[in-house]
Amino acid sequence: MIGSDGASGQGNGNGNGAGTMEFTLDVALVREILRHEKALAADELGTAGPVGAQLRSGVRHDSRLASAPDAATLACRPGCAWCCHFTVDVRPVEVFTILDYVERSLTDDERARVYAEVRANSTWLREIGADERFTTNVKCPFLRDARCVIYPVRPQSCRNYHATDAAGCRQSYEVPDDLGIDPDFAPGVYQVGAAHVEAFTAAMRDRGYDVDAYELSTALDSALTRPGARERFEARQKPFPGLDGDEVTPEFDDLGDR
Ligand code: SF4
Repeated sequence: MIGSDGASGQGNGNGNGAGTMEFTLDVALVREILRHEKALAADELGTAGPVGAQLRSGVRHDSRLASAPDAATLACRPGCAWCCHFTVDVRPVEVFTILDYVERSLTDDERARVYAEVRANSTWLREIGADERFTTNVKCPFLRDARCVIYPVRPQSCRNYHATDAAGCRQSYEVPDDLGIDPDFAPGVYQVGAAHVEAFTAAMRDRGYDVDAYELSTALDSALTRPGARERFEARQKPFPGLDGDEVTPEFDDLGDR
């Protein structure tokens, strides 16, 4: 439990499952992150554009997570990659940030490998449908030798992973259709990460950008194969024709204006 002025809260669990966890909400901390991050993101969206703002916000995101009150309890370690076999949801701005990084930083061979895996994942995920993807392991195209090859720009949901016992993550990997598995988690890390993402998302939404959540591989594949995705995004349109994003309900909506 954290904070003496906390209120109870709930959030989405880790792993493949739709588990729900309860925690004590540190209202003052969450409110401060919401206020601070939204103001900075709003300013940077105007000066640096969405990808520039996302990059700057990502640096603050990592810094905040590292200083969360229970950050030291995380089980996440380099080389531990159970969670990189669960499907990942991203916002469109993350898709374009990742693609810029891939073009800029990966070798030709590595880029070709990644794009081939993106294509294969996307084709398969479209075949099996939305429900089955939550009960099936899907290796992330960015995972190589148990390392993330886009680590500096990895999705927000990857940054926010907050398990305190890798055995639970492994169990979710080994029994992917058991949605009752609910790995132990770090509530302080969860709140800090969720508040940060919610504030950045609110700033994006206020500027009219699409902030729906899309599955990582299918969104990347659409951006790579359907011309004009970035232009549509910057014109405040839905960037991925034929893909339905999920509207994400703000979790801390009752904690003041953001
Ligand atoms: S983007 Fe990186 S951290 Fe996220 S699932 Fe893929 S390999 Fe893992």
